Amino acid sequence: MTRKTKIGADVDFERDGRQVSFLRVPHSTNESGWGTLLMPIVVIKNGQGPTMLFTGGNHGDEYEGPLTLLKLSRQLAPESVNGRVIVLPGLNYPALKAGTRLSPVDGKNMNRVFPGEHDGTVTAMIAHYVATELLPMCDVVVDLHSGGSSMIFEPSVVIHHLTDAGLMQKTLAAARDFGAPVTLVLIELDPGGMLDTAAEETGKIFISAELGGGAFVTPRSLEVAETGVDNLLRHFGLVEGEIVKPEHKGRAPTRIMETPANGAYLMSMADGLYEALVEVGEEAEVGAALGRIHFPDSPDHEPVTVNAEISGVLITRAGRGWVKRGDTIAVVATDVKNPSPHFSPR
Ligand code: CA
Repeated sequence: MTRKTKIGADVDFERDGRQVSFLRVPHSTNESGWGTLLMPIVVIKNGQGPTMLFTGGNHGDEYEGPLTLLKLSRQLAPESVNGRVIVLPGLNYPALKAGTRLSPVDGKNMNRVFPGEHDGTVTAMIAHYVATELLPMCDVVVDLHSGGSSMIFEPSVVIHHLTDAGLMQKTLAAARDFGAPVTLVLIELDPGGMLDTAAEETGKIFISAELGGGAFVTPRSLEVAETGVDNLLRHFGLVEGEIVKPEHKGRAPTRIMETPANGAYLMSMADGLYEALVEVGEEAEVGAALGRIHFPDSPDHEPVTVNAEISGVLITRAGRGWVKRGDTIAVVATDVKNPSPHFSPR
């Protein structure tokens, strides 16, 4: 049985207007016996309409989400909203504060602990709160990611293959309107424990994004994030206005791509220094050299070349110099050429 959350919220989710407050996560430590982690939450509501939950900082070293959502929280006027917008700019708040992927409090990866635990660690308690208190209120969940310290992405809005064709169609239509350079239908390496899975399993429209990476933001990745969030608000009718298409921003139309089950993900087979030969967003033919791993301890050791196993577009690459055996160092995506019924256009 799901027990009631231990996390307190000083917000009234039914009240019209704008509320900026905190989730109170019990956090007793040596330094603070009756300590509480105060985690920002913003609720903007006006009349009737859908509820959208926006989360950033699910991983604490991914910054487009928090930055975009802080701006949204300040700028979105309640009177311009039809429905309810709930914003958690830092879902894994301790991780965001530390600039780390995992929580420094308990070492947990927020996106591997869903649906969380009532009596769990801080990360598991936050996940449990989201899964049991916020998700049931929501129609749409938007979770903004980036490549973090270890990867760099071509800015992409991310959805998954869903067995519910109706939900798939609604999700794809929304993702397209996000207007990222790439609309990526991703096969997750490890879907268990993700917010994505928790939301999709309860029939919510779930939109994620991988917007950049390297533990920094760029004007381009932020522009894609901000335009995408505004477009989603318009798509679901929470805010009035026309969808701003990538073409209106001087960009190419969004490209619908997927990661095939075989050959898309390339792991490093060695520890070494990574030389990227292809930039994200560039085409790569099967066999093309995407990068090389060098061995600074052995200058005469020939670098190991990383070759594309399929033809497509490099969507992700290693985002730092040192790579380790088993790291994902390249992901190649292909255009969705033969749309299944799930991909029928609007
Ligand atoms: Ca992430």
